[in-house]
Amino acid sequence: MSSTPQTYTTSTAASQSWFARASTVTPGGVNSPVRAFNAVGGTPRFIASAQGPWLTDVDGRRYVDLIGSWGPMLLGHAHPEVVAAVQDAVARGTSYGTPTEPEVMLAEEIVARTPVEKVRLVSSGTEATMSAIRLARGFTGRDVVVKFAGCYHGHVDSLLASAGSGLATHAIPGTPGVPGSSTELTVVLPYNDREALRAVFAERGHEIACVITEAAPGNMGVVPPEAGFNGFIAQLCRTVGALMISDEVMTGFRASPQGFWGLDGALEGWAPDLMTFGKVMGGGFPAAAFGGRADVMAHLAPEGPVYQAGTLSGNPVATTAGLTTLRLATEEVYAHVQQVGDVLKVGAAEALTAAGVPHTVQAAGTMFSVFLCDGPVLDYEGAQRTDTAAYAAFFTSMLEQGVHLPPSAFEAWFCSAAHDDEAVQAVLDALPAAARAAAGAGGAV
Ligand SMILES: *Cc1c(COP(=O)(O)O)cnc(C)c1O
Repeated sequence: MSSTPQTYTTSTAASQSWFARASTVTPGGVNSPVRAFNAVGGTPRFIASAQGPWLTDVDGRRYVDLIGSWGPMLLGHAHPEVVAAVQDAVARGTSYGTPTEPEVMLAEEIVARTPVEKVRLVSSGTEATMSAIRLARGFTGRDVVVKFAGCYHGHVDSLLASAGSGLATHAIPGTPGVPGSSTELTVVLPYNDREALRAVFAERGHEIACVITEAAPGNMGVVPPEAGFNGFIAQLCRTVGALMISDEVMTGFRASPQGFWGLDGALEGWAPDLMTFGKVMGGGFPAAAFGGRADVMAHLAPEGPVYQAGTLSGNPVATTAGLTTLRLATEEVYAHVQQVGDVLKVGAAEALTAAGVPHTVQAAGTMFSVFLCDGPVLDYEGAQRTDTAAYAAFFTSMLEQGVHLPPSAFEAWFCSAAHDDEAVQAVLDALPAAARAAAGAGGAV
């Protein structure tokens, strides 16, 4: 195997041809806006296969993958044990519409790692947060939802206000198609702002059903909560009988074995009332979950009156992939992901410093991102100072050198247990030229 993937071919003809075909049948040529290259220029690479830390596109070009399917691929691509378990599950039929064993075992694994007492499986993070909000409203009999600017919780109507990366990348301030009546019960506050929270609770505490927050925001770039901030939310909610929903769709089973809560509530001695999970727990398949206090979850149908359902919820192939992934996600896996991240954080900072590009690297457990602006970044307003023109040049240079970063300046760089010395070295080798490209393009916003 060559250690210089970019020497395979420099052609992007096949990706361009597929993108043209895609654009005739799909809006923007992609099935999720975050995959588009609108913010960075160029043509999205159509990936034909992936193995460990490597992506191979339809032109036969290899890239070190730092997207990781936007989080799920903690073990790397096509992990042999996950592939074998999935093949075995597929051969037994793909969906029955009846209860199965792997969904129980996956729920047990989630309960074992987190403070939730009961979980309900769904098929996407969006469904998880949408259902958790409904349950919080049904349980409390109240309607107001508090969220933070820059936190993304899926494309739930009521939560698409100041919702982070996908919208920030495309400069959409919220979105058409969501009626004012869907967001008028949503209060949006600046992240990390205790005063703003205190004020809204003082004024409207008795109307608040829940506060939903990313356990550690990763959808405006990584913006960790200030020490004690999540605990403060939990405590404030308790004083008025509102619920705290901690969205761990991205951080769950990634930031640490127990998600971000393992670095936060587990040490401080508090737990959210409800939590949402997705990404890693699906092992690359559509599986997600919400869960929490048993007395709250008891309000969910068929045990209680709050309706929620799904034809493919707890799908046996998806839950087998997720269960196998979590069982393989050992302490060693997290230690390796942390160590790879540490090397890349230092490498990126050194290259950007040498090229004179303002930057700040921020982390939450094993997750990290590189902002092209001076730090620290504490909230969405701060994140928007990042130099998107410089990032576009940086991204394009990395891609041409065989490293696939997220095509957005507002995302984490996702490493895996499969990122070995060869993959890490390929990233380190590409960073200096990319940093110089960023220096040349910076400030053009
Ligand atoms: C990805 C994400 C979601 C949405 O999950 P989907 O599976 O894309 O619907 C929700 N919340 C957070 C924090 C996420 O990162």
